[in-house]
Amino acid sequence: MEKLFGLIGHPVGHSMSPLMHNDAFNQLGIDGHYHAFDIEEGDLKEAIAAFKVLNVSGFNVTIPHKVKVMEFLDEIDEEAKMIGAVNTVVNNNGRLIGYNTDGRGYLSSLLTVIQKPILESNVLVIGAGGASRAVVTAICDHGVKKLALTNRTLEKAKEIKNNYNNYNKCNNTSMDIVSLKEAEANIEVYDIIINTTSIGMSPNVEGIPIAVDHIKRNVVLSDLIYNPLKTRWLQLGEEKGAIIHNGVGMFAMQGALAFHKWTGIEPDTKRMMNKVITQLGGTSC
Ligand code: NAP
Repeated sequence: MEKLFGLIGHPVGHSMSPLMHNDAFNQLGIDGHYHAFDIEEGDLKEAIAAFKVLNVSGFNVTIPHKVKVMEFLDEIDEEAKMIGAVNTVVNNNGRLIGYNTDGRGYLSSLLTVIQKPILESNVLVIGAGGASRAVVTAICDHGVKKLALTNRTLEKAKEIKNNYNNYNKCNNTSMDIVSLKEAEANIEVYDIIINTTSIGMSPNVEGIPIAVDHIKRNVVLSDLIYNPLKTRWLQLGEEKGAIIHNGVGMFAMQGALAFHKWTGIEPDTKRMMNKVITQLGGTSC
């Protein structure tokens, strides 16, 4: 019998997850279908109960439900608890288990472009929202030489640091909170600079999260945004000799990790990336 998978969010019309997952089901000969469900905030509890009754095999969760959904699940894995949000749910014989694959998805994608070992790298993360927490958790789990966190609202960055003081996997990575001004003044010390804010995302494509005038050559500028595929920040960085990395890889990899949790099968992540790139009008890699 065909297995049902899905996405819950609001809105979901723009999502590329159905395209990516249904293509992977077809390619791998899996009898499954992935559907995007537009669920308003007040209907979340009933929607999750309905998914249980309908025996939906697994689903992704996107804005605005990533945090609230945790109340309605039977179990939440440690990493998702640390991040404070769930993006993937597995139905294990009627028990709904929540995971977060964003951070690991991001890191696997980043590791494909860096040249200097990440354990020897000074990393700056800009932003302190949900995506930042996922990225910081993955970086902590992996370890880097030094991690600095900055945000427009510095209090939110400090909250992240306080939470991570209790996260045993972070013990090997020191984390500094720096103001945007300080980060910009010392920009040449960073080997990897990661934008986790929405600055530069379509339709407000002119903004940049931090000036790149004094970046070191061969720095990796990594932007979680994938619409546009090349933000103005990445364009400016590229002109200065930076290695640039956009958010498509993260999107494809977080999807691939979810797919693996649901089916036990590793999909073709390059094919997933190309599906998304083509949909966004870019050229396949
Ligand atoms: P969020 O929780 O709402 O956090 C937004 C962050 O952006 C905060 O740090 C916020 O700073 C900052 N920000 C927003 N507007 C700003 C402005 N005008 N000036 C300075 N800072 C500003 O959002 P999120 O879920 O973390 O998502 C952030 C970005 O990551 C989005 O562009 C999203 O598309 C992208 N993302 C990509 C993927 C992927 O698969 N590639 C996955 C998840 C997210 P304050 O704290 O000061 O408000």
